[in-house]
Amino acid sequence: MTRRRRSSTATSTTETSTAVTATIRPTTGAVTIMEIDDSKYQLEDIDGVGKVTAQKLRDAGYTTVRDVAFASVRELAEVIGSEERAKTIILNAQRLLGIKPFMTALEYYQRRQAVRYISTGCRALDELLGGGIETRAITEFVGEFGAGKTQICHQLCVMVQLPPEKGGLAGKALYIDTEGTFRPERIMQIAKYRGLDPEEALKNIIYARAYNSDHQIMIVDEAKKIIRQENIRLIVVDSLVAHFRAEYPGRENLAARQQKLNQHISQLLKIADIYNVAVVVTNQVIAQPDVFFGNPLKPAGGNVVAHGCTYRIWLRKGKENIRIAKVFDSPYHPEKEVTFRITEEGIVD
Ligand code: ADP
Ligand code: MG
Repeated sequence: MTRRRRSSTATSTTETSTAVTATIRPTTGAVTIMEIDDSKYQLEDIDGVGKVTAQKLRDAGYTTVRDVAFASVRELAEVIGSEERAKTIILNAQRLLGIKPFMTALEYYQRRQAVRYISTGCRALDELLGGGIETRAITEFVGEFGAGKTQICHQLCVMVQLPPEKGGLAGKALYIDTEGTFRPERIMQIAKYRGLDPEEALKNIIYARAYNSDHQIMIVDEAKKIIRQENIRLIVVDSLVAHFRAEYPGRENLAARQQKLNQHISQLLKIADIYNVAVVVTNQVIAQPDVFFGNPLKPAGGNVVAHGCTYRIWLRKGKENIRIAKVFDSPYHPEKEVTFRITEEGIVD
């Protein structure tokens, strides 16, 4: 069962809050996340939040009622000092926005309708993915050095800018570069081929170099403040795990590393869901010296990454510029392989 591109429901190009499809209307008056319009509220409108608390929240990066409504109790308690109070404030923020804890399956269905797809620019890859890169999900590209992970990230930063009829979301990309391999020149090449003005294409990519894992987490926290304002529809983290592996070597650090990585992936998933953006991450492979049969390579990051990433794609090198992609670990996708090429023009069939 492959997922289908829901192009027929694509509405406005910058849909954020009103994009829920009109085919089935909510009958219960329930509000789904994507319908939430918090623009008319300020933090001070939340019951129990006065000027002082509002300032504390803003200083900590909670600038909108939505941010507070979806904060975790522990996170918020760190800002305002008490778990009890944090809980109350979160519930009050949710009430203000009309969020309720339960929804019917119909409401959930309507929520899913807000999901959009970004074309990879390569038909075979799009088909493999069931329509392209999905918003509200984390898509992981795994592979050895030179497999094409970074190339796909570059390509997607261009594709997301295209109008929906050309496979994009008419939005911007945020590129979090942990290895220093982002190349604007490459973006310009790809943009030209896709009919975009190269300089405009560069302006629509917001770049952040992450120097260590703490920095990486901090950038994602900061990103919350600009996603809406900049109309970011794609967040790239290239690579997800590299810093964590380098900073927490050996068995003795494994638990701490995995906990932190888990926190990072959760924050990415939450952003993907709340803001209806696509998150794309890359991951390295590591050798399993004790495996004699089957694939001796496995993705880095263990269970935390395996559970956190919604879709996982394994990339392999073929002859010359040919690459092979395969979805693994997915209950929805057939065990199918497709090929694509890396050329001057980017990723192509
Ligand atoms: P990784 O999986 O390590 O991130 P990359 O995405 O950097 O791998 O892919 C590197 C591959 O992309 C190299 O094999 C290189 O030949 C190819 N490549 C990079 N730029 C170009 C280009 N302008 N034209 C053709 N191939 C390119
Ligand atoms: Mg790379």
